[in-house]
Amino acid sequence: MIRMLGVSKVYSKGCIALSDVSVEIQKGDFVFVVGPSGAGKSTFIKMLFREVIPSSGQLFVNGHDVGEMAMAEVPYLRRRLGIVFQDYRLLPNKTVYDNIAFAMEVIEASRRESQKRVNHVLDLVGLRNKAYTYPTQLSGGEQQRVAIARAIVNKPQMVIADEPTGNLDPDTSWEIMKIFETINKGGTTIVMATHDKPVVDAMKKRVIAIEKGCIVRDQAKGAYGYES
Ligand code: ADP
Repeated sequence: MIRMLGVSKVYSKGCIALSDVSVEIQKGDFVFVVGPSGAGKSTFIKMLFREVIPSSGQLFVNGHDVGEMAMAEVPYLRRRLGIVFQDYRLLPNKTVYDNIAFAMEVIEASRRESQKRVNHVLDLVGLRNKAYTYPTQLSGGEQQRVAIARAIVNKPQMVIADEPTGNLDPDTSWEIMKIFETINKGGTTIVMATHDKPVVDAMKKRVIAIEKGCIVRDQAKGAYGYES
């Protein structure tokens, strides 16, 4: 599913964000990526959907060679991934329903199929009753639930999340994590960068800890391991 072999990322001005990282993530895994600010977590996460391109080494995601792939191939990589950001990134002038349905237009789903899937994912995140409201009318937690519904509507093989609870209070963060857990139980791989120590400690999933661009710990049923 994900295979990194000796991957490094050097930004312009010579900043080494990742240094010779090798790791494998299997289908169905739930992985937290943790570490101090500036450690390289975002760089790691962004490489998985080719927002950042490795400077050297090999990275395979769902069989795509991310370092070598042509620009024209990138949409095919991203279509099989669901991506969730800290700041939700919903379209403000579209309803909740349309924000999610829009993601299905890209894959040219039929109207009927789209309706079925959108209603299904709205039920999964508990927002069927908000389908025709707009993002500005929702709380942060509700907006993140919409973003998650949008990320999974096309049945991706993997969901990638960068600090998805970074703007949320602890209770709301838990609700969001429970949704990710449900998605994972359905067989979808989850890779998530987070600073949410209580959540990481309680959920006992695989933890990959990054410091100064290197993996310093890779632990099944791990803990956060830092003071946050
Ligand atoms: P984290 O997500 O753990 O905070 P990042 O992956 O964002 O870490 O950053 C790792 C290092 O790379 C930091 O030193 C950061 O300043 C640097 N960096 C990140 N993005 C860029 C960029 N676009 N250009 C130059 N340096 C960058």
